[in-house]
Amino acid sequence: CGQCAAVCPVGAITERNYIQEVWDVLDDPEKYVVVQTAPAIRSALGEAFGLEPGTPVTGKMVAALKELGFDGVFDTNFTADLTIMEEGSELLSRLTKVLRDGGQADLPQFTSCCPAWINFAEHYYPELLKNLSTCKSPQQMFGAVAKTYYAEKIGVAPENMVVISVMPCTAKKFESQREELTDSGYADVDYVLTTRELARMVNQSGIVFSLLEDQKMDSPFPESSGAADIFANTGGVMEAAVRTAYKIVTGRNLPTDKMHLKNIMDLEGIKEASLKIEDPVKEWSFLDGAELNVMVIHSLANVRKVLKEKDISKYHFIEVMACPGGCISGGGQPRFTDNNIRQKRIQAILTEDEGKEIRNSCENPFIQQIYAEYLKQPLGERSHHLLHTEYFEKSPVE
Ligand code: SF4
Repeated sequence: CGQCAAVCPVGAITERNYIQEVWDVLDDPEKYVVVQTAPAIRSALGEAFGLEPGTPVTGKMVAALKELGFDGVFDTNFTADLTIMEEGSELLSRLTKVLRDGGQADLPQFTSCCPAWINFAEHYYPELLKNLSTCKSPQQMFGAVAKTYYAEKIGVAPENMVVISVMPCTAKKFESQREELTDSGYADVDYVLTTRELARMVNQSGIVFSLLEDQKMDSPFPESSGAADIFANTGGVMEAAVRTAYKIVTGRNLPTDKMHLKNIMDLEGIKEASLKIEDPVKEWSFLDGAELNVMVIHSLANVRKVLKEKDISKYHFIEVMACPGGCISGGGQPRFTDNNIRQKRIQAILTEDEGKEIRNSCENPFIQQIYAEYLKQPLGERSHHLLHTEYFEKSPVE
């Protein structure tokens, strides 16, 4: 994307096209090919077929993917919920070390689901790497659980499973090739397509998108919470994490009228919010009355500005997304994007969230199931192995 191209010194700007590779694996009877679709693409894919910006097309997108021949059609939203379980727990663990035990922890914690931001930090702000959440992005968490938990469940050898992602993002292509993201024993994700490339495949196959009947995602990852939907928007990861952290600490959901943190999803490049913790459960009583201070930044030029001009020590959690408005305007989305279109896509995502019965990641029954059956607990041994990663200092690029 333009934003990535301006700042990303590695492969994120090289938009390698894997359409032929994906057709080849779909034609290979030995391969079991699954696809995951990111939260942001469903509010923009319709634009490639002449629909108004912001028209949600989740059901038609699933139908198109099934027609294309994928063996399993899944939602990266499921692992967005998983990311929140892990990232929210990581934040609470850092807060516990400092506020209850009087020890040291690297705060503020920064989000880690935007690979362009990770590249940028590795090259230009290595002193912040210890502050980055160790959580893999939802794309990479999906690949890791697909080739372990899911492959085992359906009796497919992981070497025969191929994981394709459809992302709004060109930087995700580079991310999937990071050599440390192979904890399943194989590349967690094999090929990444952008929203535009999926539209091209639909057209190549002769499918008439507008005539498709809505279909649902497949089990065992069929449902996600509203919190996962909003990952697509600037401020969404933060808001999703706050919803789950609040529930863990107080035992209560945030009231519906407080679910959206004030102004955190508008198109300002740097935003702040705080939330007072009141009446926590006994285990978290040390947080009674504490203010959780958060910041949301989009566009990497704004990261430089914040780090140059602000004291970030008062914040507990900072979200960074490279693209203006977040993933809804990633470099792989239908062209062209302006603030009017961004606003429509953001609103489409908020409507999805608000229409869901479950709006908190920790209440998604399928998330509870994967922990009960396989992962056991957030930050546990298996979660740590499959869902977390590390970052490396790299030379700045001239
Ligand atoms: Fe990719 Fe989203 Fe980051 Fe843009 S904001 S580079 S689309 S992950």
